[in-house]
Amino acid sequence: MSEFNLKSVLKNVRVVLVGTSHAGNIGSAARAMKTMGLSDLRLVEPCEYSAVQGDACALASGATDIVASAHNVADLSSAIDECTLVIGSSARSRTMPWPMLDPQEAAKLIVETAKQYPVAMVFGRERTGLTNEELAHCQYHACIDANPEYSSLNLAMAVQVFAYQIRCTALECDRKVDNIVNSIEKAVSADKPATAGELNFLFQRLESVLAKAEFLFQQDPQYMLRKLKRVVYKAQLEHKEVNIIQGIFTSIENKIKSLSKKID
Ligand code: SAH
Repeated sequence: MSEFNLKSVLKNVRVVLVGTSHAGNIGSAARAMKTMGLSDLRLVEPCEYSAVQGDACALASGATDIVASAHNVADLSSAIDECTLVIGSSARSRTMPWPMLDPQEAAKLIVETAKQYPVAMVFGRERTGLTNEELAHCQYHACIDANPEYSSLNLAMAVQVFAYQIRCTALECDRKVDNIVNSIEKAVSADKPATAGELNFLFQRLESVLAKAEFLFQQDPQYMLRKLKRVVYKAQLEHKEVNIIQGIFTSIENKIKSLSKKID
């Protein structure tokens, strides 16, 4: 994907709640999702709930639309069917070792994949979490590194932590794309950029001045010159700036010449 689209990435991130037993948690999870720009909620065998009355509605606050549009499905596999990445969140490590991620790592993987494909983040029951069989549906498990003496977060709060991390990661990608576009725009609108020929001449002068100043009498002068070239390239010099530096080189060379004449 050439262009990063925050909304379409977040749209591809699905939250799956398995066997939720308190309607209020469905509403709170919906609120957690909406505040972070997520909207796709799937409920596997949920308790009775309503988007227009009761706890789910009350705790969703302004996110009742997410509750109302949630899909109810009979089992986990139907909830994640078309997803290319499925991450199960769990407060405790199970007997079977599984690739484990922290929320930052999970968010990176999710955002990267969601640029193109739907992904699912799966959350378990309030009391018992996800079964081993359900966890085995997930390519990765993710854990919030909480207090080891009390590590189980409320379901909706766990959704909030992951949703926030996903949003931060997505925003960071968005900013990176913006920065690249900005620097290209700046480069286009600035003074005439230096040509490769001008830079090449600048490097020749640099080499000769540094040799005369006896800076380059080192083990590997070419290595040093390559490093300096990289510095120059990073600066994205303009035509006028190259001229200024050339002027500096001329002054240094003249000074070295007059000094060495005096010594002669
Ligand atoms: N006693 C249950 C905890 C259930 S809490 C258990 O041991 O799994 C409900 C859900 O919230 C969990 O299934 C998990 O999806 C999520 N959750 C709670 N605390 C978490 C944590 N520290 N890390 C990752 N997910 C967590």
